[in-house]
Amino acid sequence: MSHLGSHLNLVDSHAHLDASAFDEDRAEVIGRALEAGVGAILTVGTDLESSRTAVALAEAYPSVFAAVGVHPHDASSATEETFVQLRELCHHPKVLAVGEIGLDFYRDLSPRDVQRRVFERQLALAAEVEKPVIIHQRDSLSDVMERLEQWSKEQAVKCDQPLGVLHCFSGDVQAAERAIALGFYISLAGPVTYLNAKRPAAVAQAVPLDRLLLETDCPYLSPHPLRGKRNEPANVRLIAQRIADIKALSPEKVAETTTATAQRLFTELKLGSTTD
Ligand SMILES: [Zn+2]
Ligand SMILES: [Zn+2]
Repeated sequence: MSHLGSHLNLVDSHAHLDASAFDEDRAEVIGRALEAGVGAILTVGTDLESSRTAVALAEAYPSVFAAVGVHPHDASSATEETFVQLRELCHHPKVLAVGEIGLDFYRDLSPRDVQRRVFERQLALAAEVEKPVIIHQRDSLSDVMERLEQWSKEQAVKCDQPLGVLHCFSGDVQAAERAIALGFYISLAGPVTYLNAKRPAAVAQAVPLDRLLLETDCPYLSPHPLRGKRNEPANVRLIAQRIADIKALSPEKVAETTTATAQRLFTELKLGSTTD
């Protein structure tokens, strides 16, 4: 196993830096990420308020970028005014995506018909403002895929840019390949490091490296061996290391390729360093 140092140039493509878990030491967390080689962090909104906070964090820290959107858990909170405000936020130069959006039939915190309607509105918003989407799916993959299949056909006439990413992907290899064929990337988080989780490891093995993104989804989902602790963007290197092991590649190769992929999807993403 090779040594992991600050020579890796990594991107944490999905973090929740607005979470109250970071209230005591947010600046240190972002600084530690830079020291660990994480040159950019995409902090992702889950409702209008957290989307606004994401944008404020992106304004405050050069290495932080934002995605704005309403999570399926929070779909019930969305009003017409929410979509108006989200559209406004999308014009901010550091807002790189609409997300996280999707369907969550595991926890069903908002009624399913409301989740579908809010997902739909935000797919339309992303198409309108020409931003990629960050998709959340849990126990809803077939519904999500059915909708994305249709959506990708609607988009195809407009551009040949990748359309988005299925974050913290929990489906099987077949579903991953189908998503890639539609123009989506696959993002892997902490579960790929869990030795009892066979499916994300199989996906990491099968999916071409240049279709993969890395993420922490912090403060949740700490990778092995930090499970149960608060997660943070610096830990994305543990995900890179695990994927390197699975694919029998160097961590440097995994970092370089996934970072290039993140920049292909989020075109305005720029990497900072501790020497900036
Ligand atoms: Zn999610
Ligand atoms: Zn998330």
